[in-house]
Amino acid sequence: MSMRDVLLDEAVKRLKEKLPYATRNWMRKVLKRLDGVMELEPDKYVVEGRPALGDRRPAYYVWLEGGRWRCTCQPAVWGRVCTHIGAALLHREHRRILQRAERHRVYVAEAEVECPGRIEASGEVYVRPLGGWRYRVLVVSHLREIKIKCGGYVIYETEGEEASYAAALAIIQRFQGNT
Ligand SMILES: [Zn+2]
Repeated sequence: MSMRDVLLDEAVKRLKEKLPYATRNWMRKVLKRLDGVMELEPDKYVVEGRPALGDRRPAYYVWLEGGRWRCTCQPAVWGRVCTHIGAALLHREHRRILQRAERHRVYVAEAEVECPGRIEASGEVYVRPLGGWRYRVLVVSHLREIKIKCGGYVIYETEGEEASYAAALAIIQRFQGNT
């Protein structure tokens, strides 16, 4: 799973929590619309029309009015959450998660170790076998001091490099991609 997918998954989960009655089909359409959402100003979006999803206009406007989301695809009185509104809401959740991932700091270290036992570390551990008892290990931690243990004993100690969580996710992805 790419970093974008992980964060998007989280955004979808949050939107589902807010709209528990949303059907699978509704969510599928919302996801297809996500790339076509643009923020015009806070609480105002333009959503590209998609003929394949039944749209007749090239664009729809979605905005917040009196505490309710409105869309130009329907009479305001309906108050139904159409998939254009859904796409704007998903865009908001996704952006919020991306911003938090940018702000959240972690420490990252990579090392090559030899271990005939179980590899552990202070944080998230990713292990790639290199043959024999040799392993390439990636650790993402909330602590700067990173320790890698083999069979319960510290075999490697270092200071992790500071990174945003978003950057760390990209490093994890690259590390796992090289398996
Ligand atoms: Zn709409």
